[in-house]
This record gives sequence, structure tokens and C-alpha cells, in this order.
Amino acid sequence: MAEECIFCRIAAGEVPSDIVYQDEDFLAFRDISPQAPTHVLIIPKAHITSSAELTEGQEGLVGRLIIVAKNLAEKEGIAKRGYRLLINCGADGGQVVPHLHLHLIGGRRLDDRLG
Ligand code: AMP
Repeated sequence: MAEECIFCRIAAGEVPSDIVYQDEDFLAFRDISPQAPTHVLIIPKAHITSSAELTEGQEGLVGRLIIVAKNLAEKEGIAKRGYRLLINCGADGGQVVPHLHLHLIGGRRLDDRLG
């Protein structure tokens, strides 16, 4: 756990959040500033700063991260109409919280294009 990391603190239960799923390795909670009716963040509980920090050998972790998102999309009732999975990385990528997280966004038509 990184002491100053807000998402580590959420994972540790030190900061309240609206948790929608968790298992041994992952936590999913609702974004505090939702951009759509469903906006969930899925994080690995272990502190990984960003996708730039991922190494060979973490394919399983990344794959499971996406499977958790896919299952949550079904649970949220947005799987059929579609949704967006998004990972921001670094300053130019618009990453604000330096703990790897996958945005699951849906429940409305996302017409805005990237960039
Ligand atoms: P990113 O720009 O990809 O780093 O996105 C960070 C996301 O974290 C933003 O959508 C924020 O609204 C969200 N966020 C920041 N703090 C919290 C928090 N305490 N609980 C839930 N979501 C948060």
C-alpha cells in the first residue's frame, strides 16, 4: 500500500467509497464524479502507479481486470447496449490518480470521441 495514494486508502477501508465488487485482488467502486449513469472504477488492490508500470508476467492481472469490468457491466445492466472501458496513463493521458484504474462507463450514448 502506498500511504499517500487515495485508491490504496479506499482499498484499505480508510476512505469511504461506494463499493460494487471486490475479491482478493481487485476492488470496484463508483466514481465520485460520474460521467454517465454507470461510472465504476476497477483497481488492482496492489499499488501499481499506471499502465506504464506494468511488466511482462502481469498479463493475467490485466486480463482479470477486464473480466471484472465485463462482469460488472452485465450486473449494471449495460452490457447489451454497450459501454466504454478506459485507462488513462500519465499527464498527457489525463491520469489524475496515480494508481492503475479501469473506468467502466455506460448507461448513455457516449458520442464524444477520444481527444
Ligand atoms: P483518471 O483521470 O483516469 O486518473 O481518473 C480518476 C478518477 O477518479 C476520476 O474520474 C475521479 O472522479 C475519480 N475519483 C477521485 N477520487 C475519488 C474517490 N475518492 N472516490 C471515487 N472516485 C474518485
